[in-house]
Amino acid sequence: MRPPNRFLIAIKDRPVVSLTILVSILLVGVLFAFVLGQRTALDDLELTLDRSAISRKNLLQRELQNPLLVPEVLATAPTVRALLVRPSLVAASEQNAVLEETAINTRVEVLYVMDLNGDTLAASNWRASDSFVGKSYKFRPYFQQAIAGQTGRYIAKGVTSGKIGYYLARPVSVDGHIRGVVVAKNSLNALQSRVDDFWRGDRELNLVSDLNGVLVAAPVSAFVFKSIEPMTEATRTAIEVSRQYGNEIRVLPMTPGKALSQSIRLVEFSAIPGQSFLQKSYVFPDLGMRLYLHLPASRYWEIVAEFTAMFSLLALVVFLVCVGLFQRGSYTAKLIETAIHDPLTGLHTRLYMSDWCAAAIRVHNRDPGAGFGLAVFDLDLFKQVNDKYGHLAGDEVLRRVGEIVRNALRGEDLAVRFGGEELALFVRCADLTQALALAERIRRSVEQFKFRSQGGCIPVTLSGGVAYHTAGETLDALFARADQKLYEAKERGRNQIRS
Ligand code: GH3
Ligand code: MG
Ligand code: MG
Repeated sequence: MRPPNRFLIAIKDRPVVSLTILVSILLVGVLFAFVLGQRTALDDLELTLDRSAISRKNLLQRELQNPLLVPEVLATAPTVRALLVRPSLVAASEQNAVLEETAINTRVEVLYVMDLNGDTLAASNWRASDSFVGKSYKFRPYFQQAIAGQTGRYIAKGVTSGKIGYYLARPVSVDGHIRGVVVAKNSLNALQSRVDDFWRGDRELNLVSDLNGVLVAAPVSAFVFKSIEPMTEATRTAIEVSRQYGNEIRVLPMTPGKALSQSIRLVEFSAIPGQSFLQKSYVFPDLGMRLYLHLPASRYWEIVAEFTAMFSLLALVVFLVCVGLFQRGSYTAKLIETAIHDPLTGLHTRLYMSDWCAAAIRVHNRDPGAGFGLAVFDLDLFKQVNDKYGHLAGDEVLRRVGEIVRNALRGEDLAVRFGGEELALFVRCADLTQALALAERIRRSVEQFKFRSQGGCIPVTLSGGVAYHTAGETLDALFARADQKLYEAKERGRNQIRS
């Protein structure tokens, strides 16, 4: 029977500390699960947002970019060129009809031709009471851009119609000189209705803004023409001068919350009370647009909660298994302790002796220098001690003798209580004389010790027999020789050691 290992002893001796460590590990596990859950939820939802952004960009492209082809083609039309080179009422009315038909066929809201002064010479809506014909839109940046030879791209609230539109303007060149501009104004109705659908369907809040952050399409009408980004005074003035949105730009009432990552933050809108969102924004410079995608924050917390619960459960199972193992370990350690130690004397038991001796004999058989001696002791007339002073006093004597023996031993020796008042000492030493000397020392210590009891001082002595192990000898044979010597000691009058 081997002694319990240090780990088992540590568990047995400090159960509270062990349990505290386990509980701490459990708590750390839960905390770790929470942090990991947040990470996972964020990664998961960011992927959802990014995927959604790609399809929304395609949608924007379809709605905004494709109509660009119309002014592109019209800019090369001979009738348009002719009108710009030689403006006349006849040419204008002819062009009105062409633009009207083209607008219907290409599903563009309004098509119009402007001269170098920004005056509209012809327009597809020439019949309407709010027709563009004769109006000047020189102040619009798309006109400025086209006159400069670029593609004018602009979102604005129409100054004449009051409707939000996406303007695309292309310069008309004749013989290498820019003579005017063709403009297509498209409504954002289709985009707006898609944005409404996303919101109604999945509560996915899609906000579309221009590059300055002024919202132009949102499922909540109060959001439109509000700025979602902080704006410099210069930008604000420029927007107002170009009459882009017709009114002064106000900031969207939005409470930015915690930034969950570099690109995702939690936000709340006062127009959508009781709900918070995960927000990520995407810039599409080629479209002149920004997209703000939002997912309900509840989806984030659901994933975090699920993840944390799952891992906590796992941690709990591991915890319970560990507690079970610890308890078993502690119980095993206690069991081994009581099996190898005599509780009264604190000396080892016979069970432990077998293991110890088998190893010691093996070592001595191999290495002649690793010999050991055996001393067996028997308390003299101990029955009388019990009879005269009582069993409890007898027990106390045994306990004290155990203490004397333990104090006389070195770490490499072994003391065993192998019978009621019979002890055995295995002493690692070079020869019999050394073993004998130790046994004699113990005998003297016991003889001199004052064993006190209520009935007075108890005279206690012991007798002993000593033998030295010879290589190849069995434990039984060694014991028999030492026992023989003990018998001799008793025969010769007790309180002596024989060898
Ligand atoms: P001898 O000198 O010949 O050994 O005489 P003895 O009285 O010691 O004889 P014996 O070995 O026959 O008796 C041993 C006694 O030790 C018997 C028993 O009452 C007592 N004894 C054995 N174990 C214990 C114990 O754990 N506690 C107490 N109090 N007494 C014990
Ligand atoms: Mg005896
Ligand atoms: Mg005895």
